[in-house]
Amino acid sequence: HQDEDKLQEYMDELEFLAFTAGATVDRRFTQKLTQPDSKTFIGSGKAQEIKEYVKENAIGTVIFDDELSPSQLKNLEREMEVKILDRTNLILDIFAQRATTSYARTQVELAQYQYLLPRLTRMWTHLERQKGGIGMRGPGETEIETDRRIIRDRISLLKEKLKTIDKQMATQRNNRGKVVRAALVGYTNVGKSTLMNALSKSEVFAENKLFATLDTTVRKVVIGNLPFLLTDTVGFIRKLPTQLVESFKSTLDEVREADLLIHVVDISHESFEDHIDSVNQILMEINAHQKPMIMVFNKIDDFSYQKKDEDDLTPSTRKNISLEEWKNTWMAKSKYPTVFISALTKENFPEMKKLIYDEVMKIHISRFPYND
Ligand code: GDP
Repeated sequence: HQDEDKLQEYMDELEFLAFTAGATVDRRFTQKLTQPDSKTFIGSGKAQEIKEYVKENAIGTVIFDDELSPSQLKNLEREMEVKILDRTNLILDIFAQRATTSYARTQVELAQYQYLLPRLTRMWTHLERQKGGIGMRGPGETEIETDRRIIRDRISLLKEKLKTIDKQMATQRNNRGKVVRAALVGYTNVGKSTLMNALSKSEVFAENKLFATLDTTVRKVVIGNLPFLLTDTVGFIRKLPTQLVESFKSTLDEVREADLLIHVVDISHESFEDHIDSVNQILMEINAHQKPMIMVFNKIDDFSYQKKDEDDLTPSTRKNISLEEWKNTWMAKSKYPTVFISALTKENFPEMKKLIYDEVMKIHISRFPYND
């Protein structure tokens, strides 16, 4: 990482991920390298420093912000004599904890096996095996000793199972007919579920943790007599493990097949610009980047994250930004229709509803050309 601020933000996010998974972070280590060491990712001096710290403070796990190669993982565990988690494994673990439906569980299990397969040779034979710790939930725990063949069989089985469910879901989507479909997209924790609840008066689980939503929820919403379907989707995140993008096909198909994307941004988050980029990147990867989109900048009521520069962007001064001022920021000059709201206090909801109504109506009319 070149930029010190960026680095801290990435570490903040990683810490939040660790917190979501149920861990407390004791200390952060960073290192500047032109490129990661192919064998151990970090340099040997740094590895030694961490090893000593881990020993002295009885630390259980060391978490890396990147995906480590199977051999890097193995070498690091051997060298540092501690359980190592990489970003992918951490995210997979959170998904495993949060998957409630059989569909989500199947998807996560598949992603976990795909992650596990090339890493079967490592594992903590030389360490005391911790039961049920982070990264040990799901297939990691019981199947470690089973051989690769069994896991490969399991992977094909899960793929078959998902194919069947995917087909069912595609049929369901087709059966929804010509009603306009809008999908909420956005970085994780930006307020998609809260907005969904506010718009559809339903009770979707919202929580200040990452990835509260794994399954898609579809609700009928009516604005000014115009009904349409609204889908809440899994939150996106920087470096979303590729295994997950692949196995969450049906979830992402909701986005791919939506008529309108409602891109929710947490404007109170200091990295919100990066978040927008990450979301656009994933939309591009799943070929959904050319759809009509509305930008909804959420959480205008809350700037509790903005404590970095006390002279300028203190929480209180940011709180005083008026709607008119928001409309003069670069965010408002996006090529997409843009609105600033608070999903929590419902500030500026009428304007947002009008915006959504207009966009849904455009699509609706293009579908039912009454004037022909
Ligand atoms: P999702 O992961 O995008 O679905 O986000 P959630 O809807 O679960 O919301 C994440 C957290 O942000 C929760 O703690 C919400 O209460 C909070 N939140 C959502 N919208 C707002 C808002 O407009 N203002 C504030 N202050 N918090 C919000």
